[in-house]
Amino acid sequence: LPAIQPLVAGNWKMNGTKAALAEVIAISDWIDSAGNTLKADTMICPPATLTMVMAELCSNGKVLIGGQDCHPLASGAHTGDISAEMLADAGASAVILGHSERRSDHAETDNGVRAKVEAAHRAGLTAIVCVGETAGQRGAGLTLPVVARQLEGSIPDAVTAENTIVAYEPVWAIGTGLTPTADDVAEVHAMIREALQKRFDVAGIRMRILYGGSVKGSNAAELMSVANVNGALVGGASLKAADLIQILETY
Ligand code: PEP
Repeated sequence: LPAIQPLVAGNWKMNGTKAALAEVIAISDWIDSAGNTLKADTMICPPATLTMVMAELCSNGKVLIGGQDCHPLASGAHTGDISAEMLADAGASAVILGHSERRSDHAETDNGVRAKVEAAHRAGLTAIVCVGETAGQRGAGLTLPVVARQLEGSIPDAVTAENTIVAYEPVWAIGTGLTPTADDVAEVHAMIREALQKRFDVAGIRMRILYGGSVKGSNAAELMSVANVNGALVGGASLKAADLIQILETY
């Protein structure tokens, strides 16, 4: 099997107006200057308002564009929601689903996330499916069963290594500056790999598993070198080109 191409995906959350487009231009220019020495794919997931203009700015494909959520249906009477088809039409190639902030702010369940993953696939988008334990669950020794249950429930049965990416994001590590140890990351990613392989065979062996939670330039090299870590989902450190480039430099 060929090596898995890593992915560094930036999640801008509810941040960024037109002025922030300069950051994505700087990232794209840096990738151009790195030529083919960069051994990772790069993606930015802006707020929905910037999707189309960012996709147009990045139409050379050096920076991929993703959404941060989608509705399970293609269209209809759902005020404020955006469908996977709309994201694809705006130029996105992927969508983050089941992020812990969606799970907590909007009471998203594994079943609900799975319906959104199916919608993403229907629209031709790659689903980046987020899983991860809370501090309380980790403290109670429940990390592995919690993550296993989220994986099982949030990912539909028919997936490929191209249309589905898993992001392991311990909730307590998101936006806190805290990270698990490399050994802890290795343990969870090994469990995820085993579960994916068992369920999806070769697709599960080739599927990318990202680590997310306070990744920054100074810890990226260590975290990204852990076995079964195939890239990063980055929040805070993806908002400024200089910070994201420091992470890309580890590839
Ligand atoms: C995230 O929200 O996906 C994330 C990883 O955030 P941060 O990098 O800011 O911890």
